[in-house]
Amino acid sequence: KPPLLEVNQLRTYYPIKGGFMQRTKNYVKAVDNVSFSLNEGETLGLVGESGCGKSTAGRTILRLLQPTSGSITFAGKDITSIKGDSLRKQRRDMQMVFQDPYASLNPNMNVGRIVGEPLQNYERTSEKSVKLEVETLLEKVGLPTSAYDKYPHQFSGGQRQRIGIARALVLRPKLIIADEPVSALDVSVQSQVLNLLKSLQKDFDLTFLFIAHDLSVVKHMSDTIGVMYLGKLVEHADKHSLYKEPLHPYTKALVSAIPEPNPERKKDRIVLTGDVPSPVDPPSGCFFHPRCPHMMEVCKTSEPALKEVRTGHKVACHLYNDGQPSIQINFN
Ligand code: SF4
Ligand code: MG
Repeated sequence: KPPLLEVNQLRTYYPIKGGFMQRTKNYVKAVDNVSFSLNEGETLGLVGESGCGKSTAGRTILRLLQPTSGSITFAGKDITSIKGDSLRKQRRDMQMVFQDPYASLNPNMNVGRIVGEPLQNYERTSEKSVKLEVETLLEKVGLPTSAYDKYPHQFSGGQRQRIGIARALVLRPKLIIADEPVSALDVSVQSQVLNLLKSLQKDFDLTFLFIAHDLSVVKHMSDTIGVMYLGKLVEHADKHSLYKEPLHPYTKALVSAIPEPNPERKKDRIVLTGDVPSPVDPPSGCFFHPRCPHMMEVCKTSEPALKEVRTGHKVACHLYNDGQPSIQINFN
């Protein structure tokens, strides 16, 4: 079976105003040459610090943004440049759950209208059948059907996110792009919402692109993980090999930052020095080189390509060559 989603050499550049003496570049490479595929029913966790391009990647895949180049294939169909009615039809299959359940729900609409609106837009169906469908979904996301007549402000943050999830499900999409869906919520409700998403994935045959800024949130959700840094995918692997044996020095630092409840297994935290450089004027060579504890001369001038160094495990780093570190390094 072909993957549900295939992204090939995707680039999304934002134009920016020319800087001093027009010497700055006139665009930001928010997503720069990103390729991956996602199988039906699976979850890809896309992880990176804020500004790394992960949200832009998600919005480009949904075609809320027009890619600069590259291709997006959904269920075997090239959707990179579709427009108008075919884009509108395509959007039924791909829905988004947003980070902020406060901002993403219209405060003037009751829950019934919020959740039912996409259905009304797409199908000329009776009010009564929309209501039935909405009530079914409210129960599926763990809300009472009495929520139907209430307004967003009458709910807690976690409940509002459940409303947002019900709305995303009402058209029975195949793919859900969840952009940091729990990062605005109290830690105590985060795992409830994550568990809900997991059980809905089974019930509704969903495929997830799950965007997060740290690896702990996506750990239990994902089948594969992609790590982004300054617009580039620097590592992509199945969950187990990524957490057990991260290859990219940046991923190693992210993995070392995951809280480990068992003190005997506690590893030393790798603390990166320096901030994420500005994407307007990224470093030369490997974008990570100014912060990398293993930086070599070649890293300053040559950009490493993402390549498979073990089965299903891809990394963009000069340390790896044909599955072996090209030089001897003690990573601990
Ligand atoms: Fe570090 Fe060089 Fe690898 Fe970049 S290519 S992550 S600078 S070792
Ligand atoms: Mg974001």
